Amino acid sequence: MNGKPLWMDLTRDDARDQFEQHLVKSYPLLFPILSLPKEQLGNGWMPISGFGIECGPGWWPILDEACQQIEAINRKIAETNPDSVIIAHQIKEKFGGLRFYTNFCNDEVDAIIRLAEEQCSKTCESCGALGKLYTTGYWLSTDCEKCKRDGAIDYETFVNQPEEPEKS
Ligand SMILES: [Zn+2]
Repeated sequence: MNGKPLWMDLTRDDARDQFEQHLVKSYPLLFPILSLPKEQLGNGWMPISGFGIECGPGWWPILDEACQQIEAINRKIAETNPDSVIIAHQIKEKFGGLRFYTNFCNDEVDAIIRLAEEQCSKTCESCGALGKLYTTGYWLSTDCEKCKRDGAIDYETFVNQPEEPEKS
């Protein structure tokens, strides 16, 4: 791809909208739900239809790559077995990591999703720079040094710090 995709250059909300539209257009088999009006979903309501992509823009290029690979698999599946295409149900951040849920999975798709999760665990969710898991003691998030929350310390340090002496 030449230069930054459009969705990386806009303000956060516009960018999210653009990114979701990009996913729907580029990977229609993986994201049919995201493109349907909510009224049409009925019992087929899935988190992705209500909330869209629930993680920050730093992870979107990783997601885009993973979705591109899954869609290629989908095109092969669709030729012989259109009822078995992989559909995204929820994509979100949880406990500082990427979660990517689909209707079905197979070894190939599982490997693609695991690789994306692994990459996200080292990538700042806000800006895409090299990142790691930070915690405020309550929140967990994968950030770079610049984007981390006030008072957050890296998770490794947090879990390895000596316990405070008990008050007697
Ligand atoms: Zn950052």
